Amino acid sequence: MTSHSDELAARFTPDRANGRTRPLATDVPVTVSFEFFPPTDPEMERTLWDTVRRLAPLAPRFVSVTYGADGSTRDRTLDVVRRLRSDTALTIAPHVTSIGSTREELLDLARQYWTSGIRHLVALRGDLPASAQNRTSASASFVWGLDLVRGLRSVADFDISVAAYPEVHPEARSARDDLDNLKRKIDAGATRAITQFFFDNDAYLRFRDDCAAAGIEAPIVPGILPITRFSQIQRFARRCGATIPDWIVKRFEGLDEDVETRRLLGAAVALEQVEHLQRHGVREFHFYTLNRAELTYAICHALGLRYRHIAPT
Ligand code: FAD
Repeated sequence: MTSHSDELAARFTPDRANGRTRPLATDVPVTVSFEFFPPTDPEMERTLWDTVRRLAPLAPRFVSVTYGADGSTRDRTLDVVRRLRSDTALTIAPHVTSIGSTREELLDLARQYWTSGIRHLVALRGDLPASAQNRTSASASFVWGLDLVRGLRSVADFDISVAAYPEVHPEARSARDDLDNLKRKIDAGATRAITQFFFDNDAYLRFRDDCAAAGIEAPIVPGILPITRFSQIQRFARRCGATIPDWIVKRFEGLDEDVETRRLLGAAVALEQVEHLQRHGVREFHFYTLNRAELTYAICHALGLRYRHIAPT
């Protein structure tokens, strides 16, 4: 009978040979990026800036700031971007979503970003509001992520990241259609795809192979969501169609009131996940930090990233 820990090892380390786990290729440097969201109250604001201070010395390739699908966070996103620009030396990639804004508003926003020195953007369609009758009425102009990529490229030579879905976007007509959509976004000038979060590494690795077979050469950067509050993650996963394997569900059973144990297990799960991906040649990771530093910092440390002293400006 296999023990639970054997099952876990088999889940994330199918490349074990002769009972020994292959060593990590930690000599190959890893690159990371971090996602933040605009805070809504003073306490969240403090948490965000504590998190930025903690993670910045890990020298991420960029940090991204989310944008409400209906334009609702526009001002708060801009505030965070401004402060990141003034207080840090980080490369910033604001998210831009097309739903809920007109074509001209988005092109204007892109021009403002370019003028203020922003060179990276994450281009997304955004989720349809529940009340949307159809896609066209929900978006006055750019209907799909692809249209937005084309629009942003028409403004300036931005470095554009787009979304990708190892477990297929819930609205896609088929996995093939979804992959073709990603290829069109890359062919239109996006430079990298960041995936929706996932816990099934096999799904990601298959998707990466499918992308390569479809001629997509841009990096498919895995989006890693360290689990802190499991019930929240289950909600997110239901919404975006991410599978949570049974062994992860079992790990978090009965821990609703036990923050400390949840945190330890969350770190362990994310660590196993990134180490397995690293063994499969992944060298770049995007972390959905949920504006919390602890788990992301610990995982990055394990990936070989070290605190770099950054002299105050
Ligand atoms: P698209 O690329 O337009 O694809 C959406 C769906 O439409 C897919 O199913 C695709 O296959 C299908 N499709 C595309 N073109 C066509 C066509 N011509 N005909 C029929 N079907 C088509 N949301 C936010 O609101 N704010 C954020 O800041 C944000 N950040 C994100 C960051 C990342 C890394 C990721 C992965 C997602 C993020 N999201 C965010 C969520 C994202 O907006 C949603 O997943 C959204 O539903 C799809 O956005 P997209 O850019 O992938 O859309």
